Amino acid sequence: MINESSNMLFNLLVIIIAMIVHQFWNESKPESPFVKKYGILATYGIAILFCMVFSFYKDNGLNFDLRRIPLWLGTLYGGPFIGFLLAIETIFIRIIQGGPGILGSIISTVSLFLIGHFVRPIYFRLKTFNKVFLAAGINMLFSVIVLFYGSDHLIQSDTINFSINYLIVNLLGIILVSLSEEAIRKNYRKRMELFQAARLETVSHLAAAVNHEVKNPLTTARGMVQLLKYDQTMPQEKRDLLFQLALDEIDRVDRVVTDYLTFARPYPNQMEKMDIEVSIKEAVSIMEPYANQYNVQISNHHSSCQCYVLGEPAKMVQALGNILKNSIEAIPNGGDITIKTDLKDRECHIRILDNGIGMSREVLERLGEPYFTMTGNGTGLGMMVVYRIIESMNGKIKIHSSPGKGTEVILSLPAILG
Ligand code: ADP
Ligand code: MG
Repeated sequence: MINESSNMLFNLLVIIIAMIVHQFWNESKPESPFVKKYGILATYGIAILFCMVFSFYKDNGLNFDLRRIPLWLGTLYGGPFIGFLLAIETIFIRIIQGGPGILGSIISTVSLFLIGHFVRPIYFRLKTFNKVFLAAGINMLFSVIVLFYGSDHLIQSDTINFSINYLIVNLLGIILVSLSEEAIRKNYRKRMELFQAARLETVSHLAAAVNHEVKNPLTTARGMVQLLKYDQTMPQEKRDLLFQLALDEIDRVDRVVTDYLTFARPYPNQMEKMDIEVSIKEAVSIMEPYANQYNVQISNHHSSCQCYVLGEPAKMVQALGNILKNSIEAIPNGGDITIKTDLKDRECHIRILDNGIGMSREVLERLGEPYFTMTGNGTGLGMMVVYRIIESMNGKIKIHSSPGKGTEVILSLPAILG
């Protein structure tokens, strides 16, 4: 009796393990057509083999096990071809095992396969409860028939106990396994949907950003140029102001488009030996007019030795520009930004310090996430671009910040000596 019950539970365990292994396999190799096609065959095929080898109550040559559960699920989820191969396997093993039950087993295996095959188109349209109900019903029907057929051969006193055990384990098994299979599949589908939704969100973000960051400044710039063209009587100072505003808007578009392009093509095209100091100076001179608007002073402390790194100068200027821009925007009422460079342990460290509003831990954790912005007219791409550029140069970024005090961004890049 102990052997009988433990074999039943072992059968159930094998089927559950097969199901889990199949799922893991599927998820670790989602692109593999082999796993998609033959994953079920391999895992459920092995489950059938184990179930049959460790079948129970075979003193009189009859085998009782849970082989119908993997055969049923394999036919439903794997399709007719896989179901057919599993049925052939079952019959083949049963013939090798021998005994009086062979014919009955062949008939029941073929009928279960055929029922699975014909039920399949309707099965996937059913609700989970109905699926499990159907699976349990068919399994019970087969179990009762098998018991009925086999009871002649069973030793009388054992019959009732054995039959109850057999039915309960079969019922529990099919309910448990079909429910889990459904839950796993539902979970997988949900995750895929989320993934898809996230992708779509990226696209709609992009559309919104293009509208906001590109179309609006272009419309403004166009309006100003148009005004300049038609209003010939405008005083010279006003003309200059309008020209400057139009140029600022065009520069804004240029910066945003450059960021987007870095987003799409993260890696530098041609790496070259470059002097960090030159890039810093260029970034500072580009950002100086913007800093003046905010009443911010940028001071650059040259290091005593020259720092050379491998990278693309234009990208480096872009990264530094984005960091400086954030620092400037973080100082609403005037303040200072300090840049320091030094060479230590074969690394160039560029430190950009501001005494702005700083960031909370939550903001700091999300920094670099695409479209994460706390400012009204930001794109949320600035820091992401910085991370991409610095990573492509094999560098690291460290940020210290505390609300109300300010922020320190440290870029560390592998130095080239000489
Ligand atoms: P954006 O500037 O378009 O908002 P970023 O990726 O450049 O996008 O920055 C994301 C957010 O991180 C900013 O909105 C800002 O709130 C915060 N941030 C970045 N740098 C600083 C800084 N130096 N001081 C304070 N807050 C900052
Ligand atoms: Mg920014």
